[in-house]
Amino acid sequence: MNGLRLDVDLDKIGDNAKLLVDRATDRGVSVTAVTKALLGEPRLANVLVGAGVVALGDSRVENIERMRHSHVTAPMVLLRSPMPSQVDRVVRSNTTSVNTELEVLTALAAAARLCGRVHEVMVMVELGDLRDGVMPDDLHDTVRHILRLPALRLVGIGANLACRHGIAPTDQNMGELSQLVDAVESKFGTEIRTVSGGNSANLDWMTNAADLGRINNLRLGESILLGREPLHRARVAGLHTDAVTVVCEVIESRRKPTQPWGRSGQTAFGTAAEPPEDRGVIWQTIVAAGRQDIDSDDLLGPPGVKVLAASSDHLVLETATRMVPGEEIRFEPGYSALLRSMTSPFVVKNFGERRGNQSIVAVSSRRSEAGAPQPPARQPTLTIVPRPTRP
Ligand SMILES: *Cc1c(COP(=O)(O)O)cnc(C)c1O
Repeated sequence: MNGLRLDVDLDKIGDNAKLLVDRATDRGVSVTAVTKALLGEPRLANVLVGAGVVALGDSRVENIERMRHSHVTAPMVLLRSPMPSQVDRVVRSNTTSVNTELEVLTALAAAARLCGRVHEVMVMVELGDLRDGVMPDDLHDTVRHILRLPALRLVGIGANLACRHGIAPTDQNMGELSQLVDAVESKFGTEIRTVSGGNSANLDWMTNAADLGRINNLRLGESILLGREPLHRARVAGLHTDAVTVVCEVIESRRKPTQPWGRSGQTAFGTAAEPPEDRGVIWQTIVAAGRQDIDSDDLLGPPGVKVLAASSDHLVLETATRMVPGEEIRFEPGYSALLRSMTSPFVVKNFGERRGNQSIVAVSSRRSEAGAPQPPARQPTLTIVPRPTRP
């Protein structure tokens, strides 16, 4: 098994999804599971559907097409407003899309008419985080435009927070969303089936709010995959935080001073490195992973392993002892590290199913997609390191 890889434990992801679906159901909320961080991996999609989510969400039509080609039939939501150049593919992939622009809606309607379909749309409303969404005052114009286009069906209104400015979902902004939905229904005499209040950052609010108003759906990605909520990166009680881990292989481990020597200029990435505190000589260990593959600021290592720095191809660590080249170190990635690892062609994606510490199957997704026979799992040469203690 390649020493630089992402181990994805689909059983643990299934556990996480089931638990979140149960909690949401208790509050009258359905879950749309978000697949974009794993690039619309069909095996993930099937696990999520099995866990009881009502739909799958992804931000890219390419990922949605990938799932459709693998015969995933669940309802799907395109979570980013379609590019006008892709409206045809969006309509053909049989997905609901989120929208904010009249021109895009008009183009979607034309594409839907051409292939004799009705395309379902959800309007996104801006509630303060300042990413996508129409300003609340523009919502009626957008709805009126959709209702005039018979090839479109308005199925939902949604909002997204905590992505650009970290604005938290509260009774106030979620209450505003409910009021906007009520106002649209009474003005246009139409029923809004889905009111999608937000993403994993809404979990705290969903659990603790006295009244959820009209909110009856959340779109959950990070909490299902990583077991954390994004507002404080806190572990969600009861969820696995090690369902997805990044495994890296040691290529050097030497006693070195903590402080560099010689005359200093810029680093490989432009920023002048802060001179580190002089802690004498340490075990400096390098694993074969770099900024192309991981976000070094977003990795949780095992006890005794500290991330010091990364260049394009070297991740520099401090370890408690010498590590032998070939040994492996396992990290829990944050969302950013996960995205980077998934999109690096150098990181093998291993969807081997595991229970506990036992590796049952271990094959790379690329190999199995090529249709080659799946090799039996080799005993992994894992460094025996206890799991990091989690907050
Ligand atoms: C990515 C995304 C989500 C999922 O967010 P998480 O924080 O991973 O749960 C939800 N909604 C939209 C619009 C997204 O783009």
